[in-house]
Amino acid sequence: MAIERTFSIVKPDAVAKNVIGEIYSRFERAGLRIVAAKMIHLSREKAEGFYAEHKERPFFGALVDFMTSGPVMVQVLEGENAIKANREIMGATNPAEALRGTIRADYAVSVDENAAHGSDSPESAEREISYFFGADEICPRTR
Ligand code: ADP
Repeated sequence: MAIERTFSIVKPDAVAKNVIGEIYSRFERAGLRIVAAKMIHLSREKAEGFYAEHKERPFFGALVDFMTSGPVMVQVLEGENAIKANREIMGATNPAEALRGTIRADYAVSVDENAAHGSDSPESAEREISYFFGADEICPRTR
């Protein structure tokens, strides 16, 4: 199986709930390794650029308001099929549809405040990782 990297965000609602560690534990239990991480408070410009593909959607303004409402944790996860594995750990975008035991089922309250982000394809993973991290900030396993 392919070792991949994916980009992940613990969103402002989950940081406010004090469940960063709970969420990191889920990544680790699933065999994903955190190879880069930092806490940041997104500017509107940074959030708008990150979600540029949604800029024509009716929820875009609310999404940017939410993503800039408090600090987030951004991280790079590495492991076998990391992109799909992380999407499974997160659960469906709408927590009402997320499987039991997923991050969104357990910590999200609504589709607009849904606890976590994860890249949905190799192309988006590459773009999103480089949007937040320089190559010298990523620390792959050395042994
Ligand atoms: P995902 O985060 O699961 O990849 P999308 O890329 O479709 O989902 O959407 C990005 C984010 O935009 C979602 O995580 C959610 O926060 C927000 N969003 C998506 N759809 C809606 C909606 N119908 N109403 C409000 N917010 C939404």
